[in-house]
Amino acid sequence: MSATAPITQDVMTLPRKLPDGPTNLVGLTRDAMRDLLIESGTPEKQARMRVGQIWTWIYQWGVRDFDQMTNLAKSYRAQLAERFVIEIPEVVSKQLSADGTRKYLVRIAGGHEVEVVYIPEEDRGTLCISSQVGCTLTCSFCHTGTQKLVRNLTAGEIIGQVMMARDDLGEWPTPGAPKDETRLLSNIVLMGMGEPLYNFENVRDAMKIAMDPEGIQLSRRRITLSTSGVVPEIARTAEEIGCQLAVSFHATTDEVRNQLVPINKRWNIAELLEALRSYPKVSNSERITFEYVMLKGVNDTDEDARRLIDLIDGIPAKINLIPFNEWPGAPYTRSSNNRIRAFADIIYKAGYASPIRTPRGEDIMAACGQLKSATERARKSRRQIESEAGL
Ligand code: SAH
Ligand code: SF4
Repeated sequence: MSATAPITQDVMTLPRKLPDGPTNLVGLTRDAMRDLLIESGTPEKQARMRVGQIWTWIYQWGVRDFDQMTNLAKSYRAQLAERFVIEIPEVVSKQLSADGTRKYLVRIAGGHEVEVVYIPEEDRGTLCISSQVGCTLTCSFCHTGTQKLVRNLTAGEIIGQVMMARDDLGEWPTPGAPKDETRLLSNIVLMGMGEPLYNFENVRDAMKIAMDPEGIQLSRRRITLSTSGVVPEIARTAEEIGCQLAVSFHATTDEVRNQLVPINKRWNIAELLEALRSYPKVSNSERITFEYVMLKGVNDTDEDARRLIDLIDGIPAKINLIPFNEWPGAPYTRSSNNRIRAFADIIYKAGYASPIRTPRGEDIMAACGQLKSATERARKSRRQIESEAGL
């Protein structure tokens, strides 16, 4: 630009002339990181190898400081530090349940908050992560459903929840140490806040990092994505992610499912089942988990159990019965233990595994469907929830 150019033009071109602010490397796909490295001076021939090295430092060893990446030349480390950062969501608070469950509130860009739950069990440690702040859907039994969607999480914010938990569990191995087979964080479930299939690309990119041998290194069999039934994205999940699938089924007639899971009005039970039928083969996974919340007098009769068996006929399945987790103001109550057991028995006798999920972290409101950020401003009106659920 000439020195005599008017000042307004100067302002307009300013962003292009100034170097961009640092870019966060967390959550970038391999290709995206490679492109950025080349753009910022890494020789093209080396870029693929550098991505592998940087991924290993970030996701296997938990390193956040370029200076610790000792297999990179000092000058290259400095070059990276000028242009990039390694950042994850910040923990705002942490609660520990009497049963060992940990609930974290984490803050993401823009000051929004989401919840993350760690559930230790004898043979595994499961991290329940969020994919959205709030949810566009309004399942009438779900606490998150009372909160408006504020925004989708980025891939970095999704995988960042896993890295945050590893920080807190003190589970980053030291470089060069043998691989630990008995990890504290061995499983991931996308069962926190939000509908993961309404944030498909970010969830996919984050889970690819979780499954990558140079990433978090979890087997795809240890990752479960739960959807309320976004039918058009189910085939894509099988092809592009290939993790385990859980579906929030919750009812055996369209009439009841319309009320509980209003997305059923868009894609009904028959359409949902059709999409599920081809999932195991395409994703090469063994079976689908049908989640079924037990609501007293709503969906918990013997007849419901028998209808459920008929509906899923031919689909390799496990039925996970979830005793309803009550929250203040919820319009339902939990079915009795006897009722849940009788329901489970019918399903079990038909040849399906029918575990009853033990509610965890109830004392800190960390159980399934109780998660909700503190962003009260973004509440849906009770009228909106009731009208969408047809209550
Ligand atoms: N949006 C996704 C994933 C998050 S919810 C989905 O709906 O599948 C994770 C699971 O918790 C879902 O099966 C959901 O239906 C269930 N859930 C929601 N609220 C609940 C509650 N109060 N008690 C028990 N389960 C609940
Ligand atoms: Fe959203 Fe899932 Fe809750 Fe339904 S159950 S409102 S889809 S988070």
